[in-house]
Parts: sequence; C-alpha cells; structure tokens
Amino acid sequence: MAERCPHMNFSANVQVARLEDIGRFAADVRIHCTECGLPFQFLGLEPGLDLQGARVSVDGLEARLAICPQGEEPSPMDNIMIKIGAAGVKRHG
Ligand SMILES: [Zn+2]
Repeated sequence: MAERCPHMNFSANVQVARLEDIGRFAADVRIHCTECGLPFQFLGLEPGLDLQGARVSVDGLEARLAICPQGEEPSPMDNIMIKIGAAGVKRHG
C-alpha cells in the first residue's frame, strides 16, 4: 500500500466568467494536490450559485465567487468607514 500523501504542493485553477446578459462576473476556483492529484474541498460555503456572494458546487470541489471590477461595489474597508461615519453622525445627533 502506498504511503499517505502529505499534500505538500498544490495547483489552483481559476476560471473567470463574464456573464454578459446580466453584466456580472464570477470566479470559479479549483485546487488539487500536485503530488497525488487529490482535489481539495472548500469548507464553510453553502452549495449553489450566488452572484452577490460565495457558494460551492454540490461536490464541494469548486468555489464559486462573485467578483466585480474594483470600485464598483463598496469594499469591506469602505463598509467599515461608512459604519464609522454613520456612528459619528448618530453621536452628534
Ligand atoms: Zn497529495
């Protein structure tokens, strides 16, 4: 019996899709061990498709990530600044 692979080296494949009819973009990510070829499962994501978030294929092997060009949606940092701004306004009100 072969020794268990310690999974030391990886290859990632990212396919970026442009959904022309709805003007959205998505990145589909797959990762496998280059030594033994075993694919890796993505954890903590709901199965399905969400063009505003992250989902995973039903076998868990393909992460489906909604993406957009920088600046088209608020970044996490933008959202923090908006919240801080809103809290500041509240304090003075
Ligand atoms: Zn391996």
